[in-house]
This record gives sequence, C-alpha cells and structure tokens, in this order.
Amino acid sequence: MLYFSIIEKYIGAELYKKLLKLKQDFHAQLISFNDLYAFLSREEKKLIDKVCSVEPKDYGKKHTVFYGIRPIPKNLVAIANQTYFSANNKKIIKVKTQYLPKLVFTAFLKIKKAMRKDLGKSINITSGYRSPAYQAVILFITFFENKWNVKKTLWRLTLPGCSEHGYSLRQAIDVAPENGIKNIKDFNKTKEYAWLLQYAKKFGFSLSYPKDNKFGVMFEPWHWRFEKN
Ligand SMILES: [Zn+2]
Repeated sequence: MLYFSIIEKYIGAELYKKLLKLKQDFHAQLISFNDLYAFLSREEKKLIDKVCSVEPKDYGKKHTVFYGIRPIPKNLVAIANQTYFSANNKKIIKVKTQYLPKLVFTAFLKIKKAMRKDLGKSINITSGYRSPAYQAVILFITFFENKWNVKKTLWRLTLPGCSEHGYSLRQAIDVAPENGIKNIKDFNKTKEYAWLLQYAKKFGFSLSYPKDNKFGVMFEPWHWRFEKN
C-alpha cells in the first residue's frame, strides 16, 4: 500500500495544475516519458513515479495485463474534425484531436458508415491512442481529483503500459454518440451501444470491460478494442 506525506501532497497540488495545462496541449496524447520528465521538477518526477509504482493487486485488481512501455507507433493518423451537438448549449462542439493507427481508424470509419446507414446517426472517438507517459498524466490527474484514493482511481483508469489505449496491437477507442450524451455512463442505454453489441465484432472491435468483468475494471460500455483477425 502507498502512503503519501503532507509534503508530497503539497507538491502534488502544484503538479496537478501543471499537468492539467499540459493535457490541453494539442499533441498531449503523444508525449514521451523523456518530454514529460523534462517538464517536471525532480520532486514532481519522483511523485509521479511513485503513483505509477502502485501494485494493483494490493487494491483488489486481480488481472492487470502489462503490455509494456512501448514506443509511440509511427503510423498514427490525426482525427481532427469530429463534432457533436450539445443539447445543453444547443451548439456544435468540437472533439479534441485524437490519434489512431491507420488500420484501426480505417476500421472505425467502416463502423461509422454502417451505423449511420442503419440508425441515421453514429459515434465519435473521444479517446484513441494514448502514450504511456500521457497515461501517467491522466492517472495522476484522476488520482488527485479522487483525493489520493488509489482504489477509486484504479477502478476506472489503469497504469502506464497496462492500457489498451497505449497498445496498438489491441488498440482501444472510447466512443460517444455524435449527437452528444449528458452522461457517458448512460451510453449502454443508447441505440448506438445496442448496435455496437450486435455488429462491432464484424469490424474487429470487442467490448473490453463488460459488467462484472474479471479485471476488476468498472463497466465501460464506451471502451472497444480493435484486433486484426
Ligand atoms: Zn478507454
């Protein structure tokens, strides 16, 4: 189990602000550990390493798969022009640029087209490829927002090197209706989700974390992984 001192929590509060800013960066999802560390003080680096050194087993996660800290794939394409309609603000909102290996993006475009043909509406990618260092960034941000609660954080986010978002041979995408959704946790009640359950497999995509999965990860109806068959 990890313990954090008052000094570490003080450093963490500053680090949190720094990482929030970094997250806004256009290419944040592609950051390397070298670039991330260059941006941090020695104490901040130590703290982020400590957070990433948690042992998931100590927090009730029985099956954490380690894919490795792999290099950033060279064949990524930028997905820049996605929008959704926000019913709340009654306006069109742009999704932050996402990245995916070309093969996965091509498969996704096929899904998008087929779904539109069947339902008259479709889905966007809200999270595609994430480098292991970027995973460390969002892990720390979530951890801080969860008031240093490791268990709560690992329930919805995994460690660098363990995420399907950073493993291009099993590339994950998070999706959302292009018509917008108030709370993504309700995605399983949408027609888009029902359609994916029925047809995604045909395009190479599978649901990674169904209800009560063996990994000890929350039900994630939005998270689908691509595998070339
Ligand atoms: Zn995901």
